[in-house]
Amino acid sequence: MEKRFIYADNAATTAVSEEVLSAMLPHFTKSYGNASSIYKLGRDAQADVEKAREKVAAALGADPKEIFFTSCGSESDNWAIKGAAEMMSKKGKKHIVTSVFEHHAVLHTCEYLEKHGFEVTYVPVDEKGLIDPENVRKAIREDTALVTIMYANNEIGTIQPIEEIAKVCHEKKVLFHTDAVQAIGHVEIDVKKQGIDMLSLSGHKIHAQKGIGALYVRKGIVLPNLIHGGGQERGKRAGTENVPAIVGLGRAIEIACRNIAEKAAIVTPRRNRLIDGILKLPYTRLNGDRDKRLPGNLNISIEGIEGESLLLMLDLNGICASSGSACTSGSLDPSHVLLSIGLKHEVAHGSLRLSIEEDITDEDVDYILEVIPKVVERLREMSPVWEKMMNGEEVK
Ligand SMILES: *Cc1c(COP(=O)(O)O)cnc(C)c1O
Repeated sequence: MEKRFIYADNAATTAVSEEVLSAMLPHFTKSYGNASSIYKLGRDAQADVEKAREKVAAALGADPKEIFFTSCGSESDNWAIKGAAEMMSKKGKKHIVTSVFEHHAVLHTCEYLEKHGFEVTYVPVDEKGLIDPENVRKAIREDTALVTIMYANNEIGTIQPIEEIAKVCHEKKVLFHTDAVQAIGHVEIDVKKQGIDMLSLSGHKIHAQKGIGALYVRKGIVLPNLIHGGGQERGKRAGTENVPAIVGLGRAIEIACRNIAEKAAIVTPRRNRLIDGILKLPYTRLNGDRDKRLPGNLNISIEGIEGESLLLMLDLNGICASSGSACTSGSLDPSHVLLSIGLKHEVAHGSLRLSIEEDITDEDVDYILEVIPKVVERLREMSPVWEKMMNGEEVK
């Protein structure tokens, strides 16, 4: 079969779409005013920033006043968590509830707070990668400042029962934040209906550029200022607005959220064909719940191989994929997400994540399903681990 180029790593980042780029371009050279300036060039920029804010708000069912632009998803997570911690510690609340398999932007922020006098409870996930809202309830204490649980996991794609978790938090009168970076544009979100107090999102996962994000903060929650300086973002996050990026995010979220169901109807069967095809290989397992997962995500452990070797071989065949999360590649520790669902180290090491979108064709799927078995067979032939497994020896 002829070699193809297939980008199947949209959970790591996405291309800026042509529509987003063309919305951004005038803001570099023509409509370049400072949004704080009084003349028309500045007022126009200000108006475009506010239009983008309305689009982000509309995508979430929020009010534009509840949307703050940030530089990325990680910044949004940091602001929400450290901000809530600072705010609530004044009321003597110094405990945070999160899950064991959050993105590092959340986990490392919680670890930082642990070093600064906070206690953190890490709620477990089951073997399918799902969180039981009852475990969140049990973790909440009198002094809990915040619950932060991700909407959809970036590695195994599982979608959490966010509305139920939010309900528990509200019954207990605790703030609820969710990292929805992977969920935006793939599942329907309505922060009011779902009872979400704060929500983080990022542009580059939905075809806007890298380096732009947003944080939704429900009206009535007054987070401490993130960056001190000018009056931008209602005085909470100073710094001259990145107008092109903000406009791009507005356009990207509008496009991403307008036909979620139609996109899922295209992607899910192709994703399932990939899952079923790869699972035909012996000693493989699907990670994460089969149904409660992002339409474009699949994560499969393939025993007897190293994930990194697999990725290099796939790259030689024109397929961009991932194993564990991009943030930790370069480290040899297996993914904390895969360990959290009970995988043994050596199984977690041989994992493959494909994150596809509706541009993937049936022919692309055929191609992937032709390449992977060949590559896996070659790698297993060379693998001492596989040889041991086949000889019935114990593998450590
Ligand atoms: C990508 C990602 C982030 C970080 O977003 P950046 O904009 O890259 O900082 C945070 N959380 C999740 C779940 C992600 O997938």
